[in-house]
Amino acid sequence: MKPPRKLHIKSYGCQMNVYDAQRMVDTLAGEGYIETGDVNDADLVILNTCHIREKASEKVYSELGRLREVKDEAARHGRRISIAVAGCVAQAEGEEIIRRAPVVDVVVGPQSYHHLPQLLAHARRHGRALETEFPVQDKFGFLAPPRAEAIRARGISAFVTVQEGCDKFCTFCVVPYTRGAEVSRPVARIVDEVQRLADHGVCEITLIGQNVNAYHGEGPDGRIWTLGQLLHRLAALPGIVRLRYSTSHPRDVDDSLIVAHRDLPALMPFVHLPVQSGSDRILSAMNRKHSSDDYRRVIDRFRAVRQDIAFSSDFIVGFPGEQEEDFQATLALVAQIGYAGAYSFKYSPRPGTPAAEIRETVSATEMDERLVRLQQLIDSQQSAFNQAAIGTTVDVLFERSARNPGQIVGRTAYLQPAHVMASPDIIGKVLPVTIQSLERYSLLGQLAPPTPASQAQLAPADVAPADVAPADRTPAEIMTPAHITTGA
Ligand code: SAM
Ligand code: SF4
Repeated sequence: MKPPRKLHIKSYGCQMNVYDAQRMVDTLAGEGYIETGDVNDADLVILNTCHIREKASEKVYSELGRLREVKDEAARHGRRISIAVAGCVAQAEGEEIIRRAPVVDVVVGPQSYHHLPQLLAHARRHGRALETEFPVQDKFGFLAPPRAEAIRARGISAFVTVQEGCDKFCTFCVVPYTRGAEVSRPVARIVDEVQRLADHGVCEITLIGQNVNAYHGEGPDGRIWTLGQLLHRLAALPGIVRLRYSTSHPRDVDDSLIVAHRDLPALMPFVHLPVQSGSDRILSAMNRKHSSDDYRRVIDRFRAVRQDIAFSSDFIVGFPGEQEEDFQATLALVAQIGYAGAYSFKYSPRPGTPAAEIRETVSATEMDERLVRLQQLIDSQQSAFNQAAIGTTVDVLFERSARNPGQIVGRTAYLQPAHVMASPDIIGKVLPVTIQSLERYSLLGQLAPPTPASQAQLAPADVAPADVAPADRTPAEIMTPAHITTGA
């Protein structure tokens, strides 16, 4: 029997890339590849790249420099390593990667990675392969489903892409160019995928998309379903105890989504709703298609149906033309809404976007200073939000053993990590925890007597705690808004 070939995959950027990386692993499993964490041991290395900000794409070229040494060293020992660049940098700079980085064998855009087996075969025969078209076929129909053991190894929480691409064309953003036009997967396919995950122990699903609440997939009745309708359908699947979705656009919050938050206990009361700026002048220059008051009204609609709902957001500081009074409007919006956390970024001009043509007016020092002021405010709100949990009893979905021996870590509804001393057989269960203290961003507590709500939650069907290998970063870790964010 031929020994398995080994695949090392490194993923940068958003949750969409984490999902894509897993699907590449699943697809290549059919070609005899198994995953390895050690790049030196790999026969194939894939960099799954991100182009959203300049620093994110710069990382690719420095990583390729390091990979050249690994590849040369392997060649000296008679071993061939293939290198593939996937993701949004591949899409945006495919030709340039081929030109600048001879170490690369395959370049594949995010809509074509289901062709990886053929591209690798082509590169073996002809030297190199590049595919950055937006193919007519839907890649999801061609991707291999994950194997049962892969699902179990990834843990009890999973991402599922339901929507891709974007038609909004915010002036700062590369997504419409790298991910293409907005498309939604049919409901039946999503239900099948979630059911398969649930059958193998997944009990929390995060539906993902660049604009997930623009979801408009074909329903089993032949009509177009909204995200709210999809969430209702998924909440009915046995074994699924928590549902989340990300990232939403304020303009696409329709009544069905609000109703889903009102009616579905499985839908977590924590919504990531990026606003970018509190200044209407800047929102208009960003082509966000909503004002700061539109955003406030959307928040009010959520809060009207669930008082315990919390929000996180994304902010960009230093967009061209942003003056101190615009920035003050952002601070005022943050102060008014009160966030449980947020990501904040320095504006990064992206080639090919309309904003990159606008002369930058905010100096690097001003940008740094505004970022710090914004992050201080967000940090104080996040700390207050976390402090407020102390002394309360909250439901926690337990994910894995923690670093400290005997401790198990899980997440609250608001994605706060919560640690308790307990046996690993609580992994995969939602249990009430009385929170006793806070250590930086982690809650510490002890298991409390079960509440009727937590008793009603089903433990996953067939997951054995010992089977759950700690994933590199769990979906919850990727999704948790960090107050510390940079221009990267
Ligand atoms: N679709 C989501 C929305 O509209 O809110 C955002 C998705 S985008 C992939 C993730 C975040 O990256 C954005 O919310 C924005 O804050 C940030 N971002 C995008 N382009 C950026 C740029 N050119 N400079 C700095 N941050 C940027
Ligand atoms: Fe980018 Fe989001 Fe704007 Fe689309 S809506 S262009 S993904 S920031």
